[in-house]
Amino acid sequence: MLRRTKIVATLGPASADPKVIDSMVETGVDVVRLNFSHGTPEEHIQRADTVRSAARARGRTVGVLVDLQGPKIRIGKFREGKIHLNNGDPFILDSRCGQGTQERVGLDYKGLPGDVGRGATLLLDDGRIVLWVEKVEGEEIFCKVVQGGVLSDNKGINRQGGGLSAAALTEKDIEDIATAAQLKADYLAVSFPRSGADMRQARELLRAAGGKGMLVAKIERAEAVDALEEILEASDAIMVARGDLGVEVGDAAVPALQKRMIRMARERNKLVITATQMMESMIYNPIPTRAEVSDVANAVIDGTDAVMLSAETAAGAYPVESIAAMHRVCVEAEKEDEPLLGQYRMGKVFSRVDESIAMAAIFTANHLNVRAIAALTESGSTCLWMSRMQSGVPIYALTPEVETRRKVTLFRGVYPVNFKTASTDREQLLIEAENELRRRGAVRDGDLIVLTIGEPIGQSGGTNTLKIVRVGAHAGP
Ligand code: PEP
Repeated sequence: MLRRTKIVATLGPASADPKVIDSMVETGVDVVRLNFSHGTPEEHIQRADTVRSAARARGRTVGVLVDLQGPKIRIGKFREGKIHLNNGDPFILDSRCGQGTQERVGLDYKGLPGDVGRGATLLLDDGRIVLWVEKVEGEEIFCKVVQGGVLSDNKGINRQGGGLSAAALTEKDIEDIATAAQLKADYLAVSFPRSGADMRQARELLRAAGGKGMLVAKIERAEAVDALEEILEASDAIMVARGDLGVEVGDAAVPALQKRMIRMARERNKLVITATQMMESMIYNPIPTRAEVSDVANAVIDGTDAVMLSAETAAGAYPVESIAAMHRVCVEAEKEDEPLLGQYRMGKVFSRVDESIAMAAIFTANHLNVRAIAALTESGSTCLWMSRMQSGVPIYALTPEVETRRKVTLFRGVYPVNFKTASTDREQLLIEAENELRRRGAVRDGDLIVLTIGEPIGQSGGTNTLKIVRVGAHAGP
């Protein structure tokens, strides 16, 4: 059964073996995430190659998403690797500190003392350790431990409520953007953007390096929630990065924000990935908890394009089983994905011919008993517009462009098809498209298909034609 929601899986030590990657491709991963917080450029280039060869060998298309590290603020290392903080202990954060001790630890962000003052709450290790700032003197931040526990090397720091001034793109990110262009990343995810300007800067750097990938804004700062409208405008996609976001805005605020972000992204013709801790217990166990199953299913019902696995596939004991579990849950939840027969977008005025054709195609498919939509497309935009509408009808992106096939791997309900033809005759082209879908078992004689195409054939230009055909109604082979 076709799954409409896409699965993004992070690669890491648990999925470094080409055999595991092959099983992940076989089990249905749609996009792999290369997490640039770890590993070298050479390792990432190698992993992208392994994934693409595995996909080619299985006749599948898998997208590659490069996730930049961004200005994640971290403490330094401890002399003993870790310490134990008790509630009420004094503790100092000090960027000049070398080896950390029970009294103080280093920081990789020199600007932190300027960003915080008495009364600020700092959350370390995803909120497991809570520090209250008593005073700041020079480079030293004097804190009191509110919630103690074990604190080990290089743990992350967030400020509750946001407000840290670190720029979104670090020197390392700028170098990594060049690597993303080199490995032809289909998606580039920017960590901790605060504004549309951060996303525009990342896009300019990627284009200057020759990269054509789509830009994903990770929404994980409190400021990014306030600037969501302009960040969406400047991006192609957003990621609901629930890990850091939950620390900054409070975990209880995340579920409602997730729903709002998914709705806003879809309304603005943008893509959305729901990420972090979706199947967290599968790092250790071969099956998910009931709560995780509900979480994934709810993201699907909210309308997310993709659900993402992080440590489950990067460092867990069951990387392939995690993908299989997600697949199973998505397929079941999508049974709720009824074609939308209401008034959604009925009142909208379109400015583009191709967008109007895409909308007409999806409205027609939803209101008629249509088996499939076939979009003959160069850029994939028609498929993006179609996939912003709720529908149970599969949308096949028929294109000779490998970059387009890879980019639609993230679009909900869209399936890439390698379609090359020398024909410039419209009828012949449509017959070939119909035959391609029949060959794949996507349609059978007697089924209705909605096709979209740009005319005149053979000239680049937008989609301007919609045709409904009954499979086998003409004398095709
Ligand atoms: C997150 O914080 O939810 C996230 C996806 O970011 P990362 O895994 O890069 O910390």
